[in-house]
Amino acid sequence: MAEFELIERIRRRAGQRGDVVLGIGDDAALLRPPPGQLLVASADLLNVGVHFPADAQPFDVGWKALAVNLSDLAAMAAEPAWALLTLALPCADADWIDAFMDGFATLASEHGVALVGGDTTRGPLSIGVSVHGFVPETGALRRSAARAGDDIWVTGTLGDAAAGLAEHGRPRPAASSAAADFDTLAARLHRPTPRLAAGQALRGLAHACIDVSDGLFADLGHVLAASRVGARIALADLPCSAALAGIAGGEARWQLQAAGGDDYELCFSAPAEHRQAIRAAMAQVATPVTCIGTILADGALLALDPQGQAWLPRVSGYQHFDRETR
Ligand code: ADP
Ligand code: MG
Repeated sequence: MAEFELIERIRRRAGQRGDVVLGIGDDAALLRPPPGQLLVASADLLNVGVHFPADAQPFDVGWKALAVNLSDLAAMAAEPAWALLTLALPCADADWIDAFMDGFATLASEHGVALVGGDTTRGPLSIGVSVHGFVPETGALRRSAARAGDDIWVTGTLGDAAAGLAEHGRPRPAASSAAADFDTLAARLHRPTPRLAAGQALRGLAHACIDVSDGLFADLGHVLAASRVGARIALADLPCSAALAGIAGGEARWQLQAAGGDDYELCFSAPAEHRQAIRAAMAQVATPVTCIGTILADGALLALDPQGQAWLPRVSGYQHFDRETR
């Protein structure tokens, strides 16, 4: 298959929006941002063997490549609009591209995102996506905005994707309830849900926000560093799915919840007086939310076990280049 045929297969799944003046097909796209709003831009690169296993389903790869990008927009409280897709492919495999675009386009249409351009080359499988969205002038949620006394919240549950990764490649259990949990955890790893509605609903309510991509401790740590504050969290309060509770307890569970990446939940801080409003706003967008701790004026991240003892994970989060720098 020639390059232009590949691009044509992609273009058919691009989706449409009224603010796309010119989409795929020219040297560049022409886009009309809404007047008075800030343009929010983000990019993420997914490499085979690093971000997804070589045997991952192409649908899941397409879904996740967009999902991780949309999660960054969610954490900024942005409304998504446009995406660009840069593909390096070892060969022009029509079935692979079609399944990949199924995953990408399913999630894109769920959130009204149009694919407006990209690039396609030969090379080791690698997928670069960039996304663009909008946020009102003062609506964005920055990492640097946490304040002492804020509650710390997370959406959804933590540790599922890390548990799914730990189980990846293991045989699926025979018992039906264990098999259902196995599938739930795998889905959390391969098809994460970007919390876009929750992020936008937090405008004016939350102070700081980040998406949990590298693990709670690592990502909350970024908020603390950017905001020059400390935090205390209670391990017993970390939200845990029934599927995770079924396979891990105690320290093993905390390890997955504190240091496991790829959950793509939102972690945010908000003033205590917004507690009721936050619960109401999250209920409106059908997003579970849990208060896990408090922002402190200084210090590091203090995680307390049920006995009130400080606890530290063995590793705090995923880092690229870890081996080289050690
Ligand atoms: P150029 O040589 O000018 O970069 P290309 O042949 O690479 O043009 O691309 C032609 C058109 O197809 C452009 O509009 C480009 O944005 C789009 N395109 C190429 N690859 C992709 C892709 N993987 N996803 C979406 N659009 C793509
Ligand atoms: Mg090009």
